[in-house]
Amino acid sequence: MSDTKGRTMYVILLGPPGAGKGTQAVQTAERTGLLHLSTGDMFRENLRNGTELGNLAKTYMDAGELVPDDVTIGMLLERIGRDDARAGCLFDGFPRTVEQARALDEALTAQGQEIAVTVLIDVSNEEITRRLGGRVSCATCGSVFHQVFNPPDASKPCCDVIKLIQRDDDKPEAIANRLQVYADQTEPLVAYYTAADKLSTVNGEQSPEAVGQDLLSALEAVSN
Ligand code: AMP
Repeated sequence: MSDTKGRTMYVILLGPPGAGKGTQAVQTAERTGLLHLSTGDMFRENLRNGTELGNLAKTYMDAGELVPDDVTIGMLLERIGRDDARAGCLFDGFPRTVEQARALDEALTAQGQEIAVTVLIDVSNEEITRRLGGRVSCATCGSVFHQVFNPPDASKPCCDVIKLIQRDDDKPEAIANRLQVYADQTEPLVAYYTAADKLSTVNGEQSPEAVGQDLLSALEAVSN
């Protein structure tokens, strides 16, 4: 997929924790061929591999705080510099601060590129609290389920060693904190991308299929 000027597409998925960004990002990446880049997944992978970066990130993640900008920006810019990112990227969970957004803009501008569109998946605080309360994930493969809305299917195991856990950052105290962090640090990005005329909003309280369809339409509107 390329933008209206025929360049590589860089797309951002924005929205509060629990808006469904991860699920939508995986499906949209499959449909469009864009590379799915989730900074949360990168931190968790580092943690599983016991790297210094993973251990540093863990203290922030467990508390529902953001990992410091310099660490996150460094990791992301290194990642988008690799060959497989040249066909375009779908950013999920990045940027989360205006400083991160500026760093990404600068890096893309230096390569003669720019963000094609930022899609906001809009969901109310009440709905987010309801959703995150029941979220569980598999400690082995990272698949995410919901005890009520999307329970694991015993006939279709997610991996060989299923181990369902509640992420520390999905526990009630951390959820409240993550929503506050979103409001304080990430929501200003709505104004940032609106000012750049790069924001498209989809209603995140529809069925996942309808959200996915709207998301695809938003991407098609800026592609050639
Ligand atoms: P996520 O899986 O996107 O919900 O991310 C899980 C956690 O990883 C967040 O609560 C943060 O602690 C950390 N994290 C992920 N992406 C970023 C980012 N762009 N900036 C800072 N921290 C991040």
